[in-house]
Amino acid sequence: MYQCKDIADEVNNYIDGDLPLSKRVGLFIHLLMCSCCRNYLQQIRSTISIISVSQPKENDSTDVDALAHKLHSLYQHSDHTH
Ligand SMILES: [Zn+2]
Repeated sequence: MYQCKDIADEVNNYIDGDLPLSKRVGLFIHLLMCSCCRNYLQQIRSTISIISVSQPKENDSTDVDALAHKLHSLYQHSDHTH
């Protein structure tokens, strides 16, 4: 059975998906039962998303731009054909 300190030790690996399935399940079950650790995990996750928003990877923004262009050209195409 996992304890709160185990969650604190493994939470980064848990978020990264670096854990074997059996460990993930153990941590997940603890999180289901322990609101304290759920809050903790939530806090870590929002911190990570703040970091990744303030420092976007170049590839990610390029992909979004390309997708926006593609959607835009699709719209234009459908305007012309109808
Ligand atoms: Zn706990």
